Amino acid sequence: MTAFTYTTPSIEGPFAIPTGLLIGDKWTEAASGARIDIDNPATGEILTSVADGGIEEGIAAVDAAAAAAADWAATPARKRAEILLACFHAMMAEQEWLAYLISLENGKAMSDARGEVAYAAEFFRWYAEEAVRINGEFYHSPSGSNRIMVQYQPIGVALLITPWNFPAAMATRKIAPALAAGCTCVLKPAAETPLTALAVAEIMRRAGVPAGVVNVVNSSQPGPVCSAILHDPRVRKLSFTGSTQVGRILLREAADTVISSSMELGGNAPFLVLDDADLDAAIEGAMIAKMRNAGEACTAANRFYVQRGIHDRFVEKLVERMAALKVGPGTDSATQCGAMINQKSIDKIERLVGDAVEKGADVRLGGKTLEGAGFFYPPSVIANVQPGSAILDDEVFGPVAAVIPFDDIDEAIKLANATEYGLAGYVYSEDLKKALQVAERIECGMVAVNRGLVSDAAAPFGGVKQSGLGREGSHHGLIEYCEAKYIAVSW
Ligand code: NAP
Repeated sequence: MTAFTYTTPSIEGPFAIPTGLLIGDKWTEAASGARIDIDNPATGEILTSVADGGIEEGIAAVDAAAAAAADWAATPARKRAEILLACFHAMMAEQEWLAYLISLENGKAMSDARGEVAYAAEFFRWYAEEAVRINGEFYHSPSGSNRIMVQYQPIGVALLITPWNFPAAMATRKIAPALAAGCTCVLKPAAETPLTALAVAEIMRRAGVPAGVVNVVNSSQPGPVCSAILHDPRVRKLSFTGSTQVGRILLREAADTVISSSMELGGNAPFLVLDDADLDAAIEGAMIAKMRNAGEACTAANRFYVQRGIHDRFVEKLVERMAALKVGPGTDSATQCGAMINQKSIDKIERLVGDAVEKGADVRLGGKTLEGAGFFYPPSVIANVQPGSAILDDEVFGPVAAVIPFDDIDEAIKLANATEYGLAGYVYSEDLKKALQVAERIECGMVAVNRGLVSDAAAPFGGVKQSGLGREGSHHGLIEYCEAKYIAVSW
């Protein structure tokens, strides 16, 4: 793996990226005047800085969201849908610029970033279509004494907290259903990647989202700021995407005011390849499941369990394909594997790979951080990973494929389920009956059969076990922002 040449990019777009806090109809600075530096993980250079909101600004954002709540809830669903559709078109019109921005602040390859923008915008289109289909229920009580009417009402002001790995999509996956349901919100983007969220918020504002409906508060003190927001009785919803560790803290915080909580947490996806799999298709799927976002995805395949009869050929081909990937700054057009987000990520990958090797794994490709500027780890394959290795328990969140052979399917399922996580899983087999039986037995919220991608705005995304609570995307994602109101009627 060789070093690359880097050329300094610039932030250019249809408008100057706002770097303040969006509160009501204004971009403002923090009262403290504090700012957070935003760097480019491909170089470590500072790109710009954003306002660093504190508790005061967090509560001001809740004030703005609460002030806008009644009007937005009363806005006809058709109108809300039209605004969301305008956001979809406005976002897609800026796909290239937004992708560039994502790539700059997150480090991912432009091809991944373009895909993210399209996926992110799709939530606006999908929820524009869903906004006018929030149906109720009507039935007779079994006793015959009355009728039962159920309507779905907006739950109220929502706090949305997002991670750095999909700075656009994780924001729109929450904002779009919240707005479709008639809720207003406060978004707290990740401190590593706020620029994309700020640009999306400005695009939404220009597309017609009324003042106060979407507010954005960046902060270097997420704990105290989010805690203050969650203890404000006007806030009725928390939707969080991030690590299981922070998810646990937030669930405890939300308990104090009994706030409805949706949690999209960590993953540790198993990728099962059965002997009768189409090898080329399995490799193609493995490359997507492992290398989308250079492995920095909660759905990323973390553990490849490959049946003995196909194992050696799978490893050989995977090494070949991974070795051919071009590593470099995401903004370079040839790059296929961009930078990791920060040194902490590199340290974690090194620790997990080091532990696996110590316990007997073979490094078949990569396995060492690249030298030079930026946070680069090369595409890596480690085979023969032994039971008890930490990489089997913890998401590596980087471009490292850990491969483990297995003999029979029951053993593979047992290994796949031996984790506290349960987000995504993958299975490859030409025998669809067998593949579906395996899919039903894997303990996770989403299983891809003979494909390497599960994410789809139209599908319920979410995990079981400690990977989360609730679902995003699809009609399920909308219901997370509604309360069922039951009215008993006699006439
Ligand atoms: P993280 O450290 O949990 O941070 C996520 C968000 O929570 C950030 O905005 C962060 O702010 C904020 N935060 C941190 N501590 C907080 C606290 N005490 N109170 C309130 N907010 C707090 O996760 P990450 O490293 O950004 O993202 C990677 C993780 O997200 C991985 O585990 C990945 O699997 C998971 N993920 C899950 C999904 C899914 O759909 N299930 C999707 C994407 C990612 P700061 O940025 O200021 O720290």
